[in-house]
Amino acid sequence: MTDPASSTDVPPIAVALHGGSGTICREMLSAELEQSYRQALAEARDAAWSLLAAGGAALDAVEAGAKVLEDCPLFNAGLGAVFTSDGGHELDAAIMEGRERKAGAVAGVKSVKNPISLARAVLADERYVFLAGPGAEAFAESVAVERVAADWFGTPERFAQLRAAQANDGMVMDHDGKVSTKYGTIGVVALDEHGDVAAATSTGGLTNKKFGRIGDTPLIGAGTYADNRTCAVSCTGYGEEFMRAVVAHDVAARMEYLGETLERATRHVVWQKLPKLRGSGGLIAVDRTGRVSLPFNTDGMYRAWRTSRDKTEGVAIFGDD
Ligand code: ASP
Repeated sequence: MTDPASSTDVPPIAVALHGGSGTICREMLSAELEQSYRQALAEARDAAWSLLAAGGAALDAVEAGAKVLEDCPLFNAGLGAVFTSDGGHELDAAIMEGRERKAGAVAGVKSVKNPISLARAVLADERYVFLAGPGAEAFAESVAVERVAADWFGTPERFAQLRAAQANDGMVMDHDGKVSTKYGTIGVVALDEHGDVAAATSTGGLTNKKFGRIGDTPLIGAGTYADNRTCAVSCTGYGEEFMRAVVAHDVAARMEYLGETLERATRHVVWQKLPKLRGSGGLIAVDRTGRVSLPFNTDGMYRAWRTSRDKTEGVAIFGDD
């Protein structure tokens, strides 16, 4: 039976997601671990796709896909998030829809199982866009999101990464170098049959971060952006450079002002603009015609996608995948 979402007489739908970028090489992953990553990426993609294929909204699809990845300890978001310098967790997330450009973001969250759902609640509430720290926790009291104890997020692997980073006195991006090579920030973008795009990104940030450091992930326009006129974007990489390059909005702006295609705009930002700022990482993006783009300037990026327009789908990790 033909998947209705693959038929040419229905509007295009598409989903793309990432589980972080960085020093991700074949020799660093056992066959078993590689298989676990591929399975988790496919599961998240399929969760988002099944909602889209049933006529669901892109916003629901990106939240559903992001929750699967947040709940998987392989990735640096929700369960399995990296440790801060004082041995805790401060989680950041953002979600945005492209029709009215409504957005919600949270930073420094410590007790919410799925930070992306708290960001979604901020979006739905509409009073504010970005809540941080104790204020975000107080807001969480007033909405229906699952809370967990502080020790719920940590894993032994993450704790070892903290100790290794502290031994080097460094603040380490999840996939950077030898210290930490296996985990990552997560993001999902989608286009639904109504022509709406959406983006969601969630992270624990950088191992051993301190002073309330917040990266690009929850910053609308830097790590996360969605606009029906152009595209939806979710980033992963060293957040400081992604903030200075305003990466996600820059992709949309190039499409809007220069008339560039999605592929051209994303490649320019990831391969030309970011390297000038010594920025390393990647992004996933979808446009309203149902095309996806997943460029990165690192060794690898955990990623998956599916589109009805070009009938493409895949799960990939390495640069030559
Ligand atoms: N962009 C994230 C941050 O800087 C890190 C990552 O993508 O893994 O917080």
